[in-house]
Amino acid sequence: MKNIYPRLLLTLALLITLTSSTTKNIDSKIDFTDLECNTCNKKSATYIDKYQLQEHYAPYADVATKTIKIALHFWQNDSGGGNWNLNDSAHVARLHWIENSINKKLRINRKPSHPVRPVSEEIRDLKLQIEFVEMYAYQEEKHYRSRSISSLNNYVRNSYQERINNIFPIHITNGKYGGAAGMANMATTNVKSKNAGIVTFASEHNPSSDYAWASHLLHELGHNFGLKHTYKSGLGGGNETTYIKHQDFLWDVFGASPGIATPNGTPKDSLNVCYHDGYFRCDYKDPSTTCTNNLMGGTGTGGYTSVLQAGRMHKALALTNMRRYIKGDPYSEVAIEITTDEKIDFNLRLFKSVIVKSGATLTITCKLYMPNQGNIVVEKGGNLIVAGLISSEVEGNYGWEGNIIVNPGGKVYVLDGANIKFTNDGKIVLNEDNNIKGTIEYASSSIEN
Ligand SMILES: [Zn+2]
Repeated sequence: MKNIYPRLLLTLALLITLTSSTTKNIDSKIDFTDLECNTCNKKSATYIDKYQLQEHYAPYADVATKTIKIALHFWQNDSGGGNWNLNDSAHVARLHWIENSINKKLRINRKPSHPVRPVSEEIRDLKLQIEFVEMYAYQEEKHYRSRSISSLNNYVRNSYQERINNIFPIHITNGKYGGAAGMANMATTNVKSKNAGIVTFASEHNPSSDYAWASHLLHELGHNFGLKHTYKSGLGGGNETTYIKHQDFLWDVFGASPGIATPNGTPKDSLNVCYHDGYFRCDYKDPSTTCTNNLMGGTGTGGYTSVLQAGRMHKALALTNMRRYIKGDPYSEVAIEITTDEKIDFNLRLFKSVIVKSGATLTITCKLYMPNQGNIVVEKGGNLIVAGLISSEVEGNYGWEGNIIVNPGGKVYVLDGANIKFTNDGKIVLNEDNNIKGTIEYASSSIEN
């Protein structure tokens, strides 16, 4: 990895904290031979058994609330009509009512119409919020009836990059797609992708009630966070897996085993469940239907999000391109404790501090983005091996302002080819107690400040 800063600067930065215990000889007790720097192959048990799983991200009390920055793009006809009017204060007030309505749904989750037993702890606050940070209007007959998120995104990007690069786009047009009210793109683990977004057809020429529009926007946002339909939909959007052994299976929606929660026909085999009914006017209180009030259930009065669905949404904010739309630098005071060996061989954004406990080794071969308020603490008997990137992902920041704190008896190894990007007060601190010090062994080109 290219080091753009001269060695001198690096030395100055470390002088404050490094001591005579620093050595450049890599400890022979740790085997680095099969450790490839800068590999992101997602083969570790840490990824497969933990960070890949939606349940890992369920928004319990320890999860930081994240706010998504949204821009509304209103596409008008050549005379400037056919859509919401941003010069009309009544229209703007309604749009903010919709924003509040969405936030209320996210803050106070509904109760499930068809609770599944056993239900894990019910989560009321989904720890997600949205903010309409900007609203723009465009007189563009050509795009007025568009339903293409990518062509609308490209138009905005070509003319007004700052309106879209780090602000989630919702396009409001007079488009049409079957009976759908709008469309959404799904999250992707290509974190550089800028193709997220929603197109919705609820313009003023195509009115729906403001309450219904808020529900619809939240449903489409759900798609962007990686959620699919819990009913069998004909028109794209995708359907959730019915295979009970799939890692994304929503057992808290469909039931833990086939046949329990889906009295909707006969499952195709003992490892699959059936979809729920789902159409706009389906009455989920009617026992002759199997439709539900789930956010992705297709009924007009839905809105409930299950714990696993909420987990998947937060997973998207740790692993996918949806990260770029997070406002500021969310942080939770509850630290992650590493008690057995873990390997970050995937691109991860965290919102907590990390404590590497005695006997455990945390190895980073891919990319770890830390909150600026957060630290990585290596306790006595713990090891941190950096063979990839540590930085922060906050808009406008060059690097990470947190500290790697090495307690007496803890060890940090920064391998050749690694890159720790510090900025401002970011540094490695070697603590001392009774003449025992934390130690660091490092390749000199790997720490930037
Ligand atoms: Zn949908």
